[in-house]
Amino acid sequence: DTLINQIAAGEVVERPASVVKELVENALDAGAHRVEIDLEEGGIRLIRVRDDGGGIPADELPLAISRHATSKIASLDDLEAVATLGFRGEALPSIASVSRFMLASRHTDSDHGAALQVDGGRVGSVTPKAHPTGTTVEVRDLFYNVPARRKFMRAERTEMGHIEEWLRSLALARLDVELRVSHNGRPARRYRGDNMLASTDRLFETLGEEFAKHALRVDHEAAGLRLHGWIAQPVYNRASADQQYLYVNGRSVRDRSVAHAVKQAYSDVLFHGRQPAYVLFLEVDPRTVDVNVHPAKHEVRFRESRLVHDFTYRTLQQALAETRA
Ligand code: ADP
Ligand code: MG
Repeated sequence: DTLINQIAAGEVVERPASVVKELVENALDAGAHRVEIDLEEGGIRLIRVRDDGGGIPADELPLAISRHATSKIASLDDLEAVATLGFRGEALPSIASVSRFMLASRHTDSDHGAALQVDGGRVGSVTPKAHPTGTTVEVRDLFYNVPARRKFMRAERTEMGHIEEWLRSLALARLDVELRVSHNGRPARRYRGDNMLASTDRLFETLGEEFAKHALRVDHEAAGLRLHGWIAQPVYNRASADQQYLYVNGRSVRDRSVAHAVKQAYSDVLFHGRQPAYVLFLEVDPRTVDVNVHPAKHEVRFRESRLVHDFTYRTLQQALAETRA
């Protein structure tokens, strides 16, 4: 079983940033409003994610680290319209098989917390542990037992860069959640969670003043699709491929056809070659999009991909044309 989990870990866990993503998404699925992330050595030595979500009952801790034991979908119908970020039930068992892992939690209905230790896939027993309502997951020495994978981790600064990049993409989408990051014992980043926070403030915070200044607001709805967010006006010339954020139903993804549509709309008003910069949220009927395409859930598949492409292209073309007029 440990071997199967380690093989799965190869698909789910590429580097420390993927662990941070899986753990923070679990926190959000559990309804957390505040997530604390402590890192050491770019996450290679330690990743600790603490949340104030609903927690896990002590007797369900072993289930949480069992393969394909998700609490989030109960039927095929649920899979047709996944409402949570997680649904495959393989992140925790995968991560626990390639690290020194600890899961501690206290469920909202419980007076006591409990913890479970897993060492390279070897599962310990559930022990009592003081813990506030919510969950803490600790991942130490990632890939310590998989030398071939450990070799592929980069310098602390590189790994930290990937973590920060993912956190930016999250912070752009979830203004309501407080995110605190510490690195090597020092506060490194803080996004305050605030329902009143203007999304332009967050844009400024994450992508900088220049982007915020040149961001063109987009919001259009048609044929059951909605596209909203920002695209940088063509005069903004600092865009690079890393200022391209796409969310489908709140999930940060990469999608070729949407990326192509944006680029096409951009090149209509500009010379070819320049990278568009954007933060775009696409909302579609969950039954028309398959999120179960890849274990790491970076991609989605649209049932009507042509429709999505053309809708995106037309919406942005129109918005950009207006700035020219
Ligand atoms: P998935 O998110 O796909 O369900 P995971 O392996 O990421 O699978 O997590 C397994 C299960 O552990 C989840 O379905 C959930 O029930 C529980 N769990 C994990 N992290 C948390 C958390 N931070 N708070 C509450 N429950 C959690
Ligand atoms: Mg998960």
